[in-house]
Amino acid sequence: MTIFTKILNREIPAKIVYEDEHCLAFRDVNPQAPTHVLLIPKLEIPTMNDVNDSHRDLMGHLMVVAPRIAEQEGIARDGYRLVVNTNANAGQTVAHIHIHIIGGRALGWPPG
Ligand code: 5GP
Repeated sequence: MTIFTKILNREIPAKIVYEDEHCLAFRDVNPQAPTHVLLIPKLEIPTMNDVNDSHRDLMGHLMVVAPRIAEQEGIARDGYRLVVNTNANAGQTVAHIHIHIIGGRALGWPPG
């Protein structure tokens, strides 16, 4: 269990921006841009390496919801980035899959 399960269970507070049966989105506590939202599945999947065929609908759902949140946040037209860090080299610090939705400014590329 990670800190994100505690957020899911309302054991610790978070600024929630979207919720449905399958997922929850809330503001990152340490935002890297004017808009920085984390979208998580309610199912605890540690990393992208743990995704399998049984998660097909759930993962597809996240990809449908993410741009909706971007629209709601007012960053859809100007642009935004979806990021899923996986394991150490990508800097993953919480072992519960989360899609970073980052926008509100021009973002550099490639990542550092
Ligand atoms: P990662 O580095 O694993 O891709 O991203 C984890 C993200 O979770 C980081 O951007 C970090 O700021 C955020 N985070 C960690 N703990 C909390 C928390 O308790 N609340 C919220 N809202 N975000 C958190």
